[in-house]
Amino acid sequence: MIFVVQLLSAPADATPPLPRRTRLAPSPTGALHLGNARTFLINWLLARQNGWQILLRIEDLDGPRVKVGADQQAIEDLQWLGLDFDYGPIFQSARQSTYTAAVDELLRCGTAYPCICSRREVEQAASAPHAEDGATIYPGTCRDRFASVAEAQAISGRPPAIRFRVPDRKIRWTDRFAGEIKYDPARQLGDFVISKTIDQAAYQLAVVIDDAGMGITDIVRGDDLLDSTPRQLLLYNGLGLQSKIPSYWHFPLVIGSDGRRLAKRHGDTRLAHFREMGVPAERILALMGQWLGIDRTGGAISLRELQQAFRLESVPRAAITLTASDEAFLLDGPSKTVK
Ligand code: GLU
Repeated sequence: MIFVVQLLSAPADATPPLPRRTRLAPSPTGALHLGNARTFLINWLLARQNGWQILLRIEDLDGPRVKVGADQQAIEDLQWLGLDFDYGPIFQSARQSTYTAAVDELLRCGTAYPCICSRREVEQAASAPHAEDGATIYPGTCRDRFASVAEAQAISGRPPAIRFRVPDRKIRWTDRFAGEIKYDPARQLGDFVISKTIDQAAYQLAVVIDDAGMGITDIVRGDDLLDSTPRQLLLYNGLGLQSKIPSYWHFPLVIGSDGRRLAKRHGDTRLAHFREMGVPAERILALMGQWLGIDRTGGAISLRELQQAFRLESVPRAAITLTASDEAFLLDGPSKTVK
């Protein structure tokens, strides 16, 4: 809609507006499960219904957690469901020099600083307040403590992490699905790590550099990342990239019957597992469709049909619970499903 308004209001000689673009950004730290699949599907459906371009970005920076082959597996899983993309795959691990240049710049202007506190020290700091989710808020021990990264390293004997200096300013944005969101980052989040060492970018920084550099206008993801957004908005400002701030769309996650987000404890919910069991992609899409407010009575739906039937207004506002009946539906088909 916004796109149309821009087109209509553009003067005849103006350069045409850039196309809107989104990204599918799997982290190859494990296999895609039904919950990831639903979020990627929503992202893809929004893009294809609205004419956005899609870029595939593999977020493989989390060294110890990255699993060999999980990147290829994610690409195969997406292809199996029919979720195609226009650019990529682009690997974050190949872009470290860009991230390091940004860290240098933030350090130079004092927006970031070296920190030698270990995770344990932060957790044990008596003065450290706690966030709503129980995470410790960094108490600012190393703010204004060192003149340089080299000095911090000389004192601690190991390369320091780099933290972003969070200003004392409230943040609000209108999320395209979650609505009006407000944060007080200094109190709720605290100074956060943007680089684990000077040349090992952390997620928050890499994602902003990439989204801005790759022309991403719409970020669609699970609402477990809602509290990353204020951090990322601060980074857009800190890096002088305000004009590149995208629209955000945060969707609730799929949870198990215990109310916790889908994980190994809920059994094997990987797409690859269902594929190996001979479950057709159209049946997975039928379950996904139900999770998007589209009836699955037929037991199978094609991606094209989903694309026609998908309505943002019908997407449930609350988290989706994966039930035993959903799993029976996937493994046995609609006939055995108790509704
Ligand atoms: N790679 C992240 C994940 O798999 C997504 C990051 C994002 O969408 O900003 O959770």
